[in-house]
Amino acid sequence: ILEIKHLKKSFGSNEVLKDINMDIHKGEVISIIGSSGSGKSTLLRSINLLEIPTGGEILYHGENVLQKGYDLPKYRTHLGMVFQSFNLFENLNVLENLIVAQTTVLKRERAEAEKIALENLTKVGMASFVQARPRQLSGGQKQRVAIARALSMNPEVILFDEPTSALDPEMVGEVLNIMNEVAKSGLTMVIVTHEMEFAREVSDRVIFMDKGVIAEEGSPEQLFVNPKEERTREFLQRYL
Ligand code: ATP
Ligand code: MG
Repeated sequence: ILEIKHLKKSFGSNEVLKDINMDIHKGEVISIIGSSGSGKSTLLRSINLLEIPTGGEILYHGENVLQKGYDLPKYRTHLGMVFQSFNLFENLNVLENLIVAQTTVLKRERAEAEKIALENLTKVGMASFVQARPRQLSGGQKQRVAIARALSMNPEVILFDEPTSALDPEMVGEVLNIMNEVAKSGLTMVIVTHEMEFAREVSDRVIFMDKGVIAEEGSPEQLFVNPKEERTREFLQRYL
């Protein structure tokens, strides 16, 4: 679906992404791990163009989305994003949170949007909370709503940026379970996470980032059990 070629991103003189090359295939689950500041969030934000890369190409079905005249708003609708901080609309109830982008961006009829919203809320076990405001929900519940909202847009790829990092420990499991189910349904996912056990179970491929480069990538078995690079080993020792 996506081919990322020689992607670079700098903030001023700070080169945060240095020549990132990565392909994302349909149905793949890719985990990205790495130390704080290694550029994981910047990579996700560059993929969906929340940040504009300073170099390289992003090919979506073979077309460079950074070329002049490319329909970026349309491109963005094909990518879902789930953030550490949920980013729900606090002034809207759960149902409206799932409906607003469907009707405004995808131009769905209200009734259809509602039906899709309810299906996805059911998937994440939040169907009985349609009227609730985000502030009435626990962190785990908010994140399940955020995942349902992303699913309601029928994205081709969902990008997750540390979806469980802001949660109390007892709520991490419920969110990981939902993500596991989404993965089993065949959706393409890219997940930045510090949950190594989860990454190992759910991923087809794991990418270890260090100081703005992909230092190592491989199957979960290879990367977690038999890392080739010394810096991967050092990182894992701190986390496992
Ligand atoms: P963490 O695990 O803490 O989330 P990360 O791997 O996601 O870390 P990034 O958030 O991508 O790391 O940040 C990488 C570097 O880019 C950091 O040095 C950060 O200060 C810098 N950076 C990120 N966003 C911006 C921005 N909008 N403006 C300036 N510098 C930025
Ligand atoms: Mg980050």
